[in-house]
Amino acid sequence: MDSTWINAPAKINLGLDVIRKREDGYHEVKMIMQSIRLFDRLTLTKSKTPGIHLTTNLNFLPVNEDNLVYQSAKLLMDEFGITDGLDIHLDKRIPVAAGMAGGSTDAASCMIAINRLFGLRLSAKKLMKRGVRLGADIPYCIMKGTALSEGIGELLTPLPNAPDCFVLIAKPVFHISTKFVYSNLKLDEHTVHPDIDAMIDCIRENDLHRMCKNMENLLETVTIPAHPEIETIKKTMLEHGALGSLMSGSGPTVFGIFDDADKAKAAKEVCRRLPYRCFVFVTDLYR
Ligand code: ATP
Repeated sequence: MDSTWINAPAKINLGLDVIRKREDGYHEVKMIMQSIRLFDRLTLTKSKTPGIHLTTNLNFLPVNEDNLVYQSAKLLMDEFGITDGLDIHLDKRIPVAAGMAGGSTDAASCMIAINRLFGLRLSAKKLMKRGVRLGADIPYCIMKGTALSEGIGELLTPLPNAPDCFVLIAKPVFHISTKFVYSNLKLDEHTVHPDIDAMIDCIRENDLHRMCKNMENLLETVTIPAHPEIETIKKTMLEHGALGSLMSGSGPTVFGIFDDADKAKAAKEVCRRLPYRCFVFVTDLYR
C-alpha cells in the first residue's frame, strides 16, 4: 500500500466541568466528549523525496512543525526509523480554533493512518500513549464516540452511545483563545458545578430530553460575558426547537440538539441570518 486516506471527526462537549487547578498549572476537567459527523480528511502518500511534506486547503494554517499533523507524523516516523518520504494532504472542514478539537483529531487520525500505511501494528492503546505527548485530547480523538474524559483530558472511560439526535453547529467568526478562557475562570466563585454524573445517567438511560436539560459547560461563565453573542445563538436555537444548546469546549462554537432534522434545518436558516457571521451546519452523531 502506497497511499491511504482517513476522515478525522470533530467533537462537541455534551458537558464540561472544571474541577480544580493543579499545582503544575493544568486544569483538571470532567467532560462528556461526543464525536460528530463533521470531518477533516487526510490523504497520506509514500514518496521518494525524504521528509514530511504537508499541504492543506487553508493557506493560514502552518504546514511545518507547528501543525499537529506534522508533529504526530514525525513522532511515529522518528520512533520507528521510517526514512521514506511522506506526503500528507489535509483537507480541513472543521472550523479552526472553534472548541471542536480540530487539530487534535487531525493528529489522532494521522497516527492511525501511519500505523496502517507502514504496518506498525500498534494497538489503539499504544497510539493513545504516544498521542497524549502532543495533546491531552488526542487519546480521545483516537477512541472517538461517546466518552467521559477526566484528568487533564487523558483519562478516558467509554460510555454507551448518546441518544440519536440532530446537531446544529454555529461557529461565529470571532476567535476565543483557550488560554484566555482558562486564565479568566474563577473557580472559587463557582459553588454549583455542571452535574456530569447526571449526564452520564441520561446517556446510559438513552434519555435525550433529560440529557439536553443537563447540558452545561462551566467555561461559558467566562466566554458569555466576554462575547454575549454566544448567549444569543443559544437562545435562538432554543426558541427554534432545540431541546438543549451549549457552547462546545472553550468556544466559540455553539451547538443545538434536535429530535427532528427539519427543525434543525429551519433553525440553521435563522442562525444564518443573525447579524454576526456564523458558519452553520446540521449533522448527527458519529458512532
Ligand atoms: P480544542 O477544542 O482542542 O481546544 P480547537 O478546535 O479550539 O481545539 P484547533 O482547531 O485545534 O483548536 O486549532 C488551534 C490552533 O492550533 C490554531 O490556531 C492552529 O494554528 C493550530 N493548529 C496546529 N495544527 C492544526 C491543525 N491540524 N488544524 C487546526 N489547527 C491547527
